[in-house]
Amino acid sequence: MLSFNRRPFPDKKKKTWDEAVRRYNLPTGGIEISISGDYKPKPAKNFFKPAPVNVRQEKKAPVAPVATSPKKPLRYIATRSILLTCGLATLGNLPVYSMISTPENDKILSLTDPRLDKSSPAQIIKDLNLPAVAVESFSGYAVDALPDATQGSWSMRALGDNDTLKSVMSELELTKTSEKLLKDSAIEQELKHLKAGAYILTQVVDGSLQQLIYAKNKTEAYIVSATDEGFTGHWENDVFEVRNSKVAFSVKHSIPRDGKAAGLSKSLIRQISQVFQQDVDFKRGVKVGDKIGVIFEDFVYQGESIYTDKILAAEYASSKNTFQRIRFTLEDGKTGYFRPDGDTELKRTAFDRKPLEGRMSSGFGMRRHPVFGLRKNHAGTDFAAPRGTPIHATADGSVKFIGRQGGYGNVIELRHSEGVSTLYGHMSGFKDGLKSGEKVKRGDVIGYVGSTGTSTGNHVHYEYRINGEPQNPMTVELPKVGIMSEPEMHAFKNFASAMGEQLADLRKLALVDKPATGQTGG
Ligand SMILES: [Zn+2]
Repeated sequence: MLSFNRRPFPDKKKKTWDEAVRRYNLPTGGIEISISGDYKPKPAKNFFKPAPVNVRQEKKAPVAPVATSPKKPLRYIATRSILLTCGLATLGNLPVYSMISTPENDKILSLTDPRLDKSSPAQIIKDLNLPAVAVESFSGYAVDALPDATQGSWSMRALGDNDTLKSVMSELELTKTSEKLLKDSAIEQELKHLKAGAYILTQVVDGSLQQLIYAKNKTEAYIVSATDEGFTGHWENDVFEVRNSKVAFSVKHSIPRDGKAAGLSKSLIRQISQVFQQDVDFKRGVKVGDKIGVIFEDFVYQGESIYTDKILAAEYASSKNTFQRIRFTLEDGKTGYFRPDGDTELKRTAFDRKPLEGRMSSGFGMRRHPVFGLRKNHAGTDFAAPRGTPIHATADGSVKFIGRQGGYGNVIELRHSEGVSTLYGHMSGFKDGLKSGEKVKRGDVIGYVGSTGTSTGNHVHYEYRINGEPQNPMTVELPKVGIMSEPEMHAFKNFASAMGEQLADLRKLALVDKPATGQTGG
């Protein structure tokens, strides 16, 4: 489970109208309104009077908004009411009505549709099956209760194969909430089966779930919002924007302090020290003026960055050295932060010790032969396993021999680099279609355990030879290869050079940020 502390956000409420226009595709024009310049608040009876909206109990909806909240300017109230009007007009095909103030008598006339007058906005919106967010946006005075993406804390979880809403929510200690959610049949329907690889983002405010977003893919998301009655859910498209964000700063006080001031989350600041742990001594080696540039993945929701995931590339430049690290995932699924050269000196073992996971039934060296009863050198290692167990190539190579050969029975010999060959004996069968001369990759299945040739039971006889001389496969020093294969290195270099250019641009920004150096007169 990842979580992070948000950075400061701008005032969300200012954006409510624009946001509503965008989210509910409201018309931005077409409704006429005029409000006289010197308007003084009028008693509520002269005003379009929305019925109380049951959005938040704690926000007792005032019956007469103008009278009870003198601080709120008329324009605010009027705008909200019009928001209601055009929202309904668009979404429900109801007749548009408008409010008109006349400068002559300073009176506001409300020309309302009788149908609208009788039912509350909440009821209308319920009838029209609008999301609760709409109630809050359009209700005029309850707008303060809008779910605010900037409150509380967000966390994100990538879904695995066996994840359920309950399992995800229990990690957040919200098991009871998940039960409540699943009691709602509409929500249960949508969140019953969660797609592996999708994301769940949760916003928790004061220990309670405020919003839950099931991001099924990059465009489709199911959004659950807390209401007074419980929860309500709806699908939305293009909720998120995943973007690469960049931040550069130079050290003035400390990395956490300056990083935070530059807008980095705690999680990203922590990642910086992990990414450069081999390059920089973070306890003693950080100097004022050191420059840090970070490119990271950022999730944007309702125009706000709500989740910062991971560093994609970063640079640490001191007066002596410049270090760069680029995130890259190898074919085996391991992810690391590599230097732009691909860490060519970093090696990994080119061979697996064993061709299968099984009990070693006979070791390498002198032994009494199980069939002939004589003391004889055992040129390999035996691993017992049930007949048919797959046998894997222990390294990249090519097939030198495949077929039947005396005491070995069905046997495969593979040729590898640096004069090394491996041999797999007593197989019950070969992998379909495998031929002499064919290339194999480390881990490929080449055949199946059996007891062909001189053998007393199902096992694989495994030999490791250097220039034809059998060695003990369990103790021989295994050759090493570069950490990246050739195709991996190629892909990495392309990505690294693109990231390197962006890091260089970032460095210029950090230079601008450099603290002014003192001047001594003379
Ligand atoms: Zn053997």
